[in-house]
Amino acid sequence: MSGCLYIVAAPSGAGKSSLVNALLEREPGIALSISHTTRPPRPNDRDGEHYHFVNRGVFEKMVADGLFLEHAEVFGNCYGTSRAAVEPLLAQGRDVLLEIDWQGARQVRAAMPGCVSVFILPPSRAELERRLRSRGSDDAPTIARRLAESREEVAHAGDFDYIVVNDQFGDALADLRAIVACQRLRREAQAVRQAALIADLLKAD
Ligand code: 5GP
Repeated sequence: MSGCLYIVAAPSGAGKSSLVNALLEREPGIALSISHTTRPPRPNDRDGEHYHFVNRGVFEKMVADGLFLEHAEVFGNCYGTSRAAVEPLLAQGRDVLLEIDWQGARQVRAAMPGCVSVFILPPSRAELERRLRSRGSDDAPTIARRLAESREEVAHAGDFDYIVVNDQFGDALADLRAIVACQRLRREAQAVRQAALIADLLKAD
């Protein structure tokens, strides 16, 4: 049985990474796909753990060789999900989660129609701005740019299967877990998982 492919997208500052990390801690059956990027590593980034950091030449060769399931330019850098990060896990029946932008989400939806996509919204524009400022890592022009760019990301929220508002972290996490639970209860998954039970219940007396 193939695993389920989840996509999670959000504007920068909505709390996507914290929510995804909390979800993965509680749902060890879901593996996080590690993307390739040409963005320079930030101080806390570890190569091979947060991203595979590559130069443009390597990235473009991977594109030409068809190694990406999806790829896009985000904030002036290239990002991509390699097929190798996803397909073997799905084939083993593992669930896989992609933390990608709306452009990548669109490509994955076209390539893998069975995927489940989730968009995370901040509760308000003021709160989004507050969260971006409280990171303390970005200067004022960067924050202004991220706010402007958030509009482009949010404009695509309607393309996703689910929309979760991250107001109270615990509530948003519960919503994400509910989406995963629903997916696992779907007939297609249960027909395989519960095959022995169903066969037993169908046995003649
Ligand atoms: P950051 O550089 O801050 O980690 O990520 C910047 C943006 O790139 C985020 O919106 C993130 O979701 C997106 N992103 C990260 N990895 C990928 C990827 O593999 N593909 C696409 N399309 N977007 C990605």
